[in-house]
Amino acid sequence: MTSEIYFDNNATTRVRPEVFEALAPYYAEFYGNPSSIHRFGSQVSHRLSEARVQVASLIGAADPVEVIFTSCGTEGDNAAIRGLLEMRPDKRQIITTQVEHPAILGLCQHLEKKGYRVTWLGVDQDGMLDLDELREALTDETALVSIMFANNETGVIFPIEQIGAIVKSKGVPFHVDAVQAAGKLALDVKNSPVDLMTLSAHKFHGPKGVGALYVRRGMTVPPFIIGGHQERSRRAGTENVAGIVGMGKAAELALKSQKEDFARIGALRDQLQNSLLESCPSARVNGDKVKRLPNTLNISFRYLEGESILVLLDQHGICASTGSACTAGSSEPSHVLRAMRTPADWLQGAVRFSLSRFNTEDEVRFINEKMPSIVKRLEGLSALGKLAVQHRNQTPGSDNPAASEQGGRL
Ligand code: PLP
Repeated sequence: MTSEIYFDNNATTRVRPEVFEALAPYYAEFYGNPSSIHRFGSQVSHRLSEARVQVASLIGAADPVEVIFTSCGTEGDNAAIRGLLEMRPDKRQIITTQVEHPAILGLCQHLEKKGYRVTWLGVDQDGMLDLDELREALTDETALVSIMFANNETGVIFPIEQIGAIVKSKGVPFHVDAVQAAGKLALDVKNSPVDLMTLSAHKFHGPKGVGALYVRRGMTVPPFIIGGHQERSRRAGTENVAGIVGMGKAAELALKSQKEDFARIGALRDQLQNSLLESCPSARVNGDKVKRLPNTLNISFRYLEGESILVLLDQHGICASTGSACTAGSSEPSHVLRAMRTPADWLQGAVRFSLSRFNTEDEVRFINEKMPSIVKRLEGLSALGKLAVQHRNQTPGSDNPAASEQGGRL
């Protein structure tokens, strides 16, 4: 067994060797600035155009010009929402969900403080949206709707086609954060009701620090970063050439292998899930088990602390997560599980295993072997924890997302 078993691929993925090979010369050899007229520049700008075609193909965009390179998913989300708001200054309502990644949540909370009205759509116990709630929320005041494609913590997939049809029937711009979906699911923006879509390379075996924002032809979105004329004046700043070349290569490879990869990854994930449910009677899966990314398993162990499980897993070289990377290290329960009204007994004991093409059956077997003793050991220590949970449950209002002012929307 290898010494490190990496099951945290929704946080970030390993760069594929072919991607590294493709991008490395753009540091050492082809170091020109793509805006330069001389040969060093044109060699490089030509390569950026190729990468744009590769990324456009991954998402099924009609025209590569619809792809704007950014520095990450967070920038894409910010550029989309702030840009759409700037285009429609008379509209003051934003519609999003309670379970978005902090890139959207944090921004919308900030905009709420600046005077925008944010409608936070809730989810049911499986993490699914109520589309009637969306229908009712749309008004003449709505500036935009921003909804994620797939949840980074639970893997739950939202019905983007149906959502988009509702949003577009009111003539409202629709932004989708597809950071966890791109490279895992087949995407076809050309034939979908999506106006803007955010991507990030490091979630599909590309490098960190590079992403893309898809903007449908005909949609005008003012630049988020203003300065030079890069990206047709839509995103200023000298391009991250090596990163963009790497993102293009990662997109090309993902398009070729994602169907096969994720059939195999899904089978491994199911093996892990079924074995853990059988060997740990206190476990339950969080999120819809069908409409879910094939690589994601979010599983809670009753009365336990997810972080204690992670520490013991780490002693065996197994790397997983309690939620999104951005909340790792904080003991606050996940805002996604709270929005799903996960009962208090299971709220703290969530562990996310997220797989990639590099994971093997041996690794899954190894986790399945180690997990029951970890859980038993912690259960032995958790008699006190159990009492604390019972006490919390008996205290009116505590730990109940509906009763907590923040719980419903953070
Ligand atoms: N949106 C989602 C759904 C994510 O999972 C992430 C990262 O985890 C982001 C946005 C932010 O992407 P980046 O890390 O490239 O800023």
